[in-house]
Amino acid sequence: MGVQTLDDLLARGVRGQRVFVRSDLNVPLRDGAVADDSRLCASLPTLRRLCEAGARVIVASHLGRPKGERVATLSLRPVAARLAQLLGAGVAFCDECVGEQPRAAIDELGAGRLLLLENLRFYAGEERNDPDFAKALAALADVYVNDAFGTAHRAHASTEGMTAHFDRVAAGDLLNSELRHLQVIREPNRPLLVILGGAKVSDKLSVLEALAPHADVLAIGGAMAYTFIAANGGATGKSLVEPDRFDAALAVQRAARDAGRRLLLPSDHVVADRFEADAPARVVAEIPDGALGLDIGPETAKRYAAEARNARTIFWNGPMGVFEMEAFAAGTRTVAAAVGDSPATSVVGGGDSLAAIHQLGLADRIDHLSTGGGASLEFVQGLTLPGVAALER
Ligand code: ADP
Ligand code: MG
Repeated sequence: MGVQTLDDLLARGVRGQRVFVRSDLNVPLRDGAVADDSRLCASLPTLRRLCEAGARVIVASHLGRPKGERVATLSLRPVAARLAQLLGAGVAFCDECVGEQPRAAIDELGAGRLLLLENLRFYAGEERNDPDFAKALAALADVYVNDAFGTAHRAHASTEGMTAHFDRVAAGDLLNSELRHLQVIREPNRPLLVILGGAKVSDKLSVLEALAPHADVLAIGGAMAYTFIAANGGATGKSLVEPDRFDAALAVQRAARDAGRRLLLPSDHVVADRFEADAPARVVAEIPDGALGLDIGPETAKRYAAEARNARTIFWNGPMGVFEMEAFAAGTRTVAAAVGDSPATSVVGGGDSLAAIHQLGLADRIDHLSTGGGASLEFVQGLTLPGVAALER
């Protein structure tokens, strides 16, 4: 049992073969053009290598949430144009994902050429993992490659269902690199520091539960910290708290304690009277009535930064405060800089966390920036990703 890599696949040759590549080309669009092409860039190496090896490459992806219907603004057509620019080669486009139209387009496709299919989620069968849709997709190709790490935690037709129809399957370079880097969090050099923040405990409860006993130190920031503080009887004013998660938060603390781990909560806060960029901000040790916590305070940021310096492995998901507003960005900035400076192997995942890292200009100081938020959280919890399991042969 094992998962073949692209190297393994290319070693056996793919010239003239039809290779179906499930990529993650789910990019933000603005005014009908690609607004941020980082996901496309991350997908290029696999596509380039297959083209260079003379494969006839069929690329498929989802974009947004069209929920099984054709939504004109969620067409992948603008992505084909941008992809062609990045590759410096033509990219054919097909309005349909299954049936006669793509079949004819693939017949025309020369060795080393690329065809992009329309948004997979225009078909209800994609997210439902419908066997007939999966079979129709599989009928287009001889070989299957999954490079869509960001959707590897979903058992959809293009990530799971269709793979059963292939003898030759492989993980693309992006998927493979993600798994290798994230494996380091599962089997860390200790001490392992996990920094979790962001908006809600409920979004990340399973990762809290899994990592509290696993991480040597679990440092909590962002709005989720207030649910922990409130659950322990602390003052949280008007901060975002989830009373229905108090028990869960206390259980997470208990699990950390029972395993001999440390769980850290903020000891000071940046608060304001309203959730607005120009609201006057002040630092407090205890959140007063009528105020809401919008960032960890400077003392907390210093404590977390010191942990980053002592760690040998760091996993970070979720900003420490409302970093989108300058007045509440300092906590995230201090912690990010410390993670960047630390000699530890560092991995950062999550859409907003990555945005924060890029905004602070620290991207090249982090060892691995995970392109898949949900998938990276599921993987570091030790869960099996259906899209990866489907590649086992
Ligand atoms: P990621 O996308 O990295 O997984 P999340 O989506 O979980 O991160 O959380 C990011 C969001 O959490 C940001 O938009 C940020 O403004 C918000 N956030 C962080 N701290 C607070 C806070 N104290 N109050 C309200 N929102 C917060
Ligand atoms: Mg987010």
